[in-house]
Amino acid sequence: MVMEKTDWSALGFDYRKTDVNARYTFTDGKWSEMEITEDEYIRMHMSASCLHYGIELFEGLKAFRGVDGKVRLFRVEDNARRLQSSAERLCLPVPTIDMIVDACIEVVKRNERHIPPYGTGASLYLRPVMFGTTVGLGVKPAKDALLIVYCSPVGAYFKSGIKPMPVAIDREQDRAAPRGTGDVKVGGNYAASLLSGEKGHSLGYSNIMYLDAAEHKYIEECGACNFFGIKEGKYITPKSPSVLPSITNKSLRQLARDMGLEVEDRRIPVEELPTFEECGGCGTAAVITPIGKIFDMQTNAVYEYGSEVGKVSMELYTRLQDIQYGRAEDIHGWCTIVM
Ligand SMILES: *Cc1c(COP(=O)(O)O)cnc(C)c1O
Repeated sequence: MVMEKTDWSALGFDYRKTDVNARYTFTDGKWSEMEITEDEYIRMHMSASCLHYGIELFEGLKAFRGVDGKVRLFRVEDNARRLQSSAERLCLPVPTIDMIVDACIEVVKRNERHIPPYGTGASLYLRPVMFGTTVGLGVKPAKDALLIVYCSPVGAYFKSGIKPMPVAIDREQDRAAPRGTGDVKVGGNYAASLLSGEKGHSLGYSNIMYLDAAEHKYIEECGACNFFGIKEGKYITPKSPSVLPSITNKSLRQLARDMGLEVEDRRIPVEELPTFEECGGCGTAAVITPIGKIFDMQTNAVYEYGSEVGKVSMELYTRLQDIQYGRAEDIHGWCTIVM
């Protein structure tokens, strides 16, 4: 095999071809064995249900090359469980945890040469994606599905140190309805958020902060990140049926407890924003993106948190990365050592 030279530090968050991907197909009421293929393409009928009715879901997780040279997959079983709940919500066949975990492990092993070395800040991003492929015209659940797990090396989210971002509150467009699909990881939620995201970007904001769709009173999510605020020794994060249960947020809540902070899962009214000492978004891509400024596009209110990352956010970030890169003991059993 010819090894092309890779400038790992120059990688962004983009698709980059690797060697193989893993697939399972569901037809005639049962799943196939795992298939490993070099093919990046799929052949699909133009009337496949995913194309017309959005019967599609995905996941995102990372594998890290640690300080000890070992490769760790972070909380892969939690991603598998969340994939199952998304599949149930979309009436898709539900793969087993083992099927999903096995495919992730296989994809990491077989793409070893694409795992960025330790110290580059880069990692191997895994993208499980699943969709209905039944040919038809009427709206009904798919009887056939394809589950693919592929990967792509991605660069460090913050190239020159963790930096706070400006976000904007938008009440004109919602991401997810209270009893809709906000709590599952389905493509439709993203499609619905693009327009407000573009509006935010054109005004110079990195992300849109979404409020609850029913009353526009409570904070929900920040772009494709969960939200958290820090004040008075507490880690506070929104409780809502339309927030995606972030695995990073779940991990940060545990680490916050480990640090002696109190953790509150509750509704967070917009009026509480000025009282936070620090706030940020969290997710697999960046772990934590601190929020430096929030602008309310409808009321013109501005909330500022400074241009430096807060002390608590920084410690949470460091503690999580230390576990992911094998620098700290994995006391909660979050990592699967792949090799
Ligand atoms: C994926 C996602 C997150 C982050 O979840 P992680 O499991 O931490 O990566 C947050 N919000 C939304 C809407 C998401 O789709």
